[in-house]
Amino acid sequence: MTVELLHNAVRPYAWGSRTAIAEMLGREVPAPHPEAELWMGAHPGDPSRVVGRDGSVRSLLELLAEDPDGQLGARCADRWGGRLPFLLKVLAADEPLSLQAHPSAEQAALGFATEDAAGVPVDSPVRNYKDPSAKPELICALTEFHALSGFREPERSVALLRALDAPDFAPYTELLAAQPDPDGLRALFTTLITLPQTALDVLLPQVLDACVVHVKEHGEFDLECRTVLELGEAYPGDAGVLAALLLNRLVLQPGEAMFLPAGNLHAYLHGTGIEILANSDNVLRCGLTPKHVDVPELMRVLDFTCGDMPLLRGEETAPGLWTYRTPCPEFELSRVEVTPGAEVRLDHGGPQILFCARGRVALTSAGGAPLVLERGRSVWLPAVDPAVVASSDVSAQLFRATPGVE
Ligand SMILES: [Zn+2]
Repeated sequence: MTVELLHNAVRPYAWGSRTAIAEMLGREVPAPHPEAELWMGAHPGDPSRVVGRDGSVRSLLELLAEDPDGQLGARCADRWGGRLPFLLKVLAADEPLSLQAHPSAEQAALGFATEDAAGVPVDSPVRNYKDPSAKPELICALTEFHALSGFREPERSVALLRALDAPDFAPYTELLAAQPDPDGLRALFTTLITLPQTALDVLLPQVLDACVVHVKEHGEFDLECRTVLELGEAYPGDAGVLAALLLNRLVLQPGEAMFLPAGNLHAYLHGTGIEILANSDNVLRCGLTPKHVDVPELMRVLDFTCGDMPLLRGEETAPGLWTYRTPCPEFELSRVEVTPGAEVRLDHGGPQILFCARGRVALTSAGGAPLVLERGRSVWLPAVDPAVVASSDVSAQLFRATPGVE
């Protein structure tokens, strides 16, 4: 049995938490610096290291290069050119991330080729497409998790904007009221996101003042207005603050997940979650960031479908195994609930990463001594390995990442 522990990199982005990841890994709290993401996988920027039972330490990237068929299984290795198609993360946000969307596979391939042909270096700060791949994402809450995602039903957005009643915003509100559908949203969003700074500098303070009044009066859109105020304070003069007025404001409870397909506009606000995503770096930002924003390119990929975002609670696909189904071929995430005395069998024709989110779990496979996986730890299970059985003397929780089904 080659169930092997992973040593994972922590990414120190400024929006990260000083407590969530440190506490999960059993380190001193607070950490000296913000810790935003724990990366489990074979992303070339920060691959996990695999610690063998003999104490050897190897980059997962190297292991995949040496034996793609054994590590990934022939089918996955063929389909994804010897690459692990997903990256699993613990994401811990204390502050909002940028407002962003990701391209589809076709858009990414075209964008990558176009920028290559134009001679924009891959590491240039103005490069949109770092690779030719799609970047669908799914986030599952570990704590209460707050986010903006997808365009709200236009009639509800009109109700919100009318409730705010910022004088100079009225013509924009009525633009949407006259055409409360995806085309109307596209028109309003395009107008707002391309407003000259002089217009923004007049409009934004009015909107923020209206939000203050609405919150004071405990209006219907209290949570939405608090978020706009928070964003307005963090990113003064940023058109993304106005765009945020049009998005669904979501609160995920632990175990609830949200799938972000290509073209979905979203911003994580705060909370800790398990995120799984395709192994790509293609982000088109819309605002709430000091980084490069390319509005025409963003407009090409944005999806103006509107309405409530569906929350996924997982389907019990085997006893103790709850799967968050998406149409993604790159990944599948499951939650494994291990109760004392019960056993959960984890097999898959491809590679698996298991992460222990709660308690501790003994992993046993034919002919091997069990490996005890503590909270915050993860293992790599190559495709060639026999099935693993998870058991625990406490109520424990694992997350399992595998390639998706096609
Ligand atoms: Zn994203």
